[in-house]
Amino acid sequence: MAMLEVKNLEVYYGVIQAIKGISFEVNEGEVIALIGANGAGKTTTLQTITGMLQPKAGEIIFEGKDISKIPGHKIVSMGMAHVPEGRRVFAELSVYENLKLGAYTRKDKKEIEETLARVYKSFPRLEERKNQLAGTLSGGEQQMLAMGRALMSKPKIILMDEPSMGLSPILVEEIFHIIREISASGTTVLLVEQNAKKALAIADRAYVLETGNIVLSGDAKEMMNNDSIKKAYLGE
Ligand code: ATP
Repeated sequence: MAMLEVKNLEVYYGVIQAIKGISFEVNEGEVIALIGANGAGKTTTLQTITGMLQPKAGEIIFEGKDISKIPGHKIVSMGMAHVPEGRRVFAELSVYENLKLGAYTRKDKKEIEETLARVYKSFPRLEERKNQLAGTLSGGEQQMLAMGRALMSKPKIILMDEPSMGLSPILVEEIFHIIREISASGTTVLLVEQNAKKALAIADRAYVLETGNIVLSGDAKEMMNNDSIKKAYLGE
């Protein structure tokens, strides 16, 4: 059984249908990339899975349970974390306070401290800046904080929306390296990216979204060699 299964999902903004009946699955331990151009519906898909948007039709099955009508905070406590597009850290709170908020669904203080230590190990820069206001961090540091905050809920699966957006090439490398580490530590990853090259390089499988439909899917390495993918998404 897949860890996460999306079946015939349809999402509307008013009368406009943004997602037109897509189906895909994420198995435990996989890194899955959802790629596609601007406006294809990638963000809408993630927001619907995490309970920020309500689907009009379809099912979202997480560990055997339909979560399509469950509110977002409950979904977090079930083991799903979301790193939203544009980071959305709490600018007026410190790095440390932002991280602590990521653990809001957890109770055991000692375990939370252990997770915090692990997050600081993955992101030494966050520890160096733990008392700094999040709003004064650089874009790359804010991305790290958003990822660290999501990890504080100790998720089984982490959904990331465009983690490389707006970052310098060196930071993009760093962020993708960290995504690999998150995966290696046993967390399942669903990654939405416009940077198809980078996403396919670290993914096991990928789905291509075009105007609300999945038009192609398969093994990520094979997709890197697919001519139409190369032309449309890899700039080759
Ligand atoms: P991007 O990479 O630009 O974020 P995306 O693939 O994530 O693109 P979405 O943001 O999911 O795409 O948008 C899918 C479609 O839904 C687009 O046509 C977009 O214009 C539309 N859309 C998104 N948000 C809204 C909204 N709040 N109201 C109306 N239409 C919206």
